[in-house]
Amino acid sequence: MAPGLPGFTIVGLADTALQEARERVRGAIRNSGYEYPPRRITVNLAPADLRKGGASLDLAIALGIIVGSEQVTAAGRWAVLGELSLGGELRPVPGLLPMVAALARRHVRRVIVPATGVAEAALAEGVEVVPAATLAEAATLLRASRRGRARLVPPRFELAEDVRFESDGGVTREEVGDAGGRQVPAAEPDLAEVRGQLEARRGLELALAGGHCMLMIGPPGSGKTLLARTIPGLLPPLDDKESRVATIIASVAGTGSVSGLVRRRPFRSPHHTISYAAMVGGGPHLSPGEVTLAHDGVLFLDELPEFDRGALEALRQPLEDGQVAIARVGRAAVFPSRFQLVAAMNPCPCGHAGEGDGRCRCQPTAVDRYAGRISGPLRDRIDLWVHMPRVRPEEYVAQANPEGSAAVAERVAAARHRQLGRQDCLNARLSGRALRAACDMAGPAQAQAIRLADLEGWSARGTERLLRVARTAADLAEAERVECSHLDEAARFRASGRQRGDLAAG
Ligand SMILES: [Zn+2]
Repeated sequence: MAPGLPGFTIVGLADTALQEARERVRGAIRNSGYEYPPRRITVNLAPADLRKGGASLDLAIALGIIVGSEQVTAAGRWAVLGELSLGGELRPVPGLLPMVAALARRHVRRVIVPATGVAEAALAEGVEVVPAATLAEAATLLRASRRGRARLVPPRFELAEDVRFESDGGVTREEVGDAGGRQVPAAEPDLAEVRGQLEARRGLELALAGGHCMLMIGPPGSGKTLLARTIPGLLPPLDDKESRVATIIASVAGTGSVSGLVRRRPFRSPHHTISYAAMVGGGPHLSPGEVTLAHDGVLFLDELPEFDRGALEALRQPLEDGQVAIARVGRAAVFPSRFQLVAAMNPCPCGHAGEGDGRCRCQPTAVDRYAGRISGPLRDRIDLWVHMPRVRPEEYVAQANPEGSAAVAERVAAARHRQLGRQDCLNARLSGRALRAACDMAGPAQAQAIRLADLEGWSARGTERLLRVARTAADLAEAERVECSHLDEAARFRASGRQRGDLAAG
């Protein structure tokens, strides 16, 4: 702060939102009972060559001015994070959890965060998270710290019922553990509601058990979407490590929506009108896209050929590498995006091809064009091709109750457990020697695998896809080795390689 003509400058590659901090900070200081000093104020954001954005520095700038003008004397080192309203209220900012965690790694011991984000920030370990609802409260905290923590002003905010505070103000993981599970309402249908489609139910069980990408092909009304919507109820919850990553992704993606560790495995189903940027991530603040929000979970794309070509091509890198690099003027980020693709499509533009009732009047070229929207590299990723015929009336009215979600979820969890115990990853990510070792085929099974591959003219990659699914079939059967029956089952879910044949079969 310098004498001279009153002014307020922010230097150090600040984006628009950060430049506008000047207005928010000025308003917040005046409305919090402090004086806005009539001096020349320069805020220097270091390092100068790194772009800075967003509103998370508002509180730091405001407190800097209040302390710099000697209205408050701060004792000790504090980190502070939060956006300010003109009235001086503190608002949550995206990415609170990873920012607090990064501060902890830099040996910052205390951090003031917006009260509404305290449950999220407190998931970071090794740092005391102190909530404040307003700029005035934050300023009081700085002052009070000199006289010790006993005098800390009690935070003025409502405790979420999921979050219980310990005497030291921290929140333990166990106490908020359940909160994350409720972030997505459990409204998914039960598998018992799916009539008929035994083959597709089996395909889905294989796909979820081994983490395989799967494509469902069938006419409208065959139950593709209903089947997909049962997925969240069939997947096991995230383990501790996955849960931490998912929680950080949720933190970066939104503001104040994280109230505890995310435990539920992600299931994302973006509409086919989704843009490239929304699919891969991007925007002014490098927000994660659907491929990242689906990390360690399922990305469901209904009406696959209707998606924008660019948005589909964008799936290649994440499907290959399990991560996605996004860049925006001067900034770049790599986000995790190891998801399982489940997709659905009609067999032809009108949807009735392959039913044999003469209703499909699509020209062969139109069918080819429709199928051709799914590029070769994307097809290559699909381990399971599931044809879903129209449900016959007798199947629909039959009294026999199909198996429900709970039983299938149990088998899926057990099969995944076997895989992780054996090779530390799901079968869908096995290849080469590791895949052969996991399959551990005896002579007859090896001969059968070669026979199947020759018959269908599969390349090495095609054969690997067969072995992966066969390994999952064996895991569901609790078999140590892949046997002929597992290979035969996997072969039933393979594409034949002929484009139109793939789509119109069944
Ligand atoms: Zn048609």
